[in-house]
Amino acid sequence: MAYEDRAFAEQLAARGVTRRDFVKFCGSVAAMLGLSESMVPTIASAVESAAGSKLYPAVWVNGGACTGCTESMAQATYPDVATVVLDILSMNYMETVMMAMGADAEKALYDTVNNNEGKAIMIYEGSVMKGWDGNALRVAGEPSLKILDDLAPKVAAIIAVGSCAVDGGWVKAGPNTADATGVSMYLAEKGIKTPVINLPTCPVNPEWIVAMVVDVLLLGELESGAILGKLDAQGRPKLIFGQTIHDNCPRRGHFENGEFVYQFGSPEEAKGYCLYAMGCKGPQTQTNCPIVRWNNQTSWCVESGSPCIGCGNFNWVDNGAPFLGRMRKVAIGSGSHNGGFAPGVAGAAVGGVVAAALGVHAIGMAATGRLGNMPDTEDVKEHDRKKGGDK
Ligand code: SF4
Ligand code: SF4
Repeated sequence: MAYEDRAFAEQLAARGVTRRDFVKFCGSVAAMLGLSESMVPTIASAVESAAGSKLYPAVWVNGGACTGCTESMAQATYPDVATVVLDILSMNYMETVMMAMGADAEKALYDTVNNNEGKAIMIYEGSVMKGWDGNALRVAGEPSLKILDDLAPKVAAIIAVGSCAVDGGWVKAGPNTADATGVSMYLAEKGIKTPVINLPTCPVNPEWIVAMVVDVLLLGELESGAILGKLDAQGRPKLIFGQTIHDNCPRRGHFENGEFVYQFGSPEEAKGYCLYAMGCKGPQTQTNCPIVRWNNQTSWCVESGSPCIGCGNFNWVDNGAPFLGRMRKVAIGSGSHNGGFAPGVAGAAVGGVVAAALGVHAIGMAATGRLGNMPDTEDVKEHDRKKGGDK
């Protein structure tokens, strides 16, 4: 075994990771990036050689954030295979967890970018706070916007992690007195053309960051510019954000059968029925959460019993709240900001699966005699309105 191979094998062993786990992990990264199985050895070898020889300079900058994305990343930092990839980043500045403070910390941030001009990666968490001439958020005695103004033009790319960095997220929710916005919107205003890769959801899924590190750095897609062709109109990797939650949801069969949960704690909930009537935004939300899952692939929102609240959508707070309010408008796959249709006029609006499912549901309710026991529609609407629902 070559020295490098042995060193890498030791790295894996130190994390309790077998070679088999590592290859399996590379397979899941390939799947996430839409690469064929034949690319798995290429990914494995790229990670292996980078782990032995090269560190990529990176900085993690926080705007207006709750640090939830940092916490989400921390879930990937106990010894496991993802850390093998993340260790190739020389993360020289990450204010939430770094030891350095004050002027030393700020020097590390500026030195990392200035000494690696055009090469360093910036990961940006949180919203860009423009309010009060940028004084809505101050870092190191200056408006936090200065960090983006000074350094965004000099980094190779920015990975905007979490909905706040993508479009302002919950920080931007009305009335948005702090004038919060997303990184790409701010850079566009300033005429800064640095590529931005948007990874929404609240918080970000660390698996996506790992996949982007492999794609952008190890497979050279940033250098070649190929990554730009893989982003959708919202700057999100199409392969991660190209399908709806609903497309891959394990409760989808219940949706098709018109089997819905109407109340938590009910027998329908115990049976794992569809959560659409509890406000699930899965039909409008495009992420691969059901496939990649969360917390080291343990589970995800709908699997753990909660409706998807659509945190992968643009303006998800303003468009999705109240999160458990019954949604009467459904727009499959188009994002909740792009209109929708009321189930009552579903047949006229679309001939698609939602209309079919709601039709089946009505037929099923009638056939089993449950229709007669339903409260009057207007009473239900009034109830929803009082709760702030009926969107
Ligand atoms: S509405 Fe929600 S719970 Fe129901 S099938 Fe779609 S994603 Fe799953
Ligand atoms: S399932 Fe929905 S609410 Fe949960 S993380 Fe994914 S997009 Fe967000």
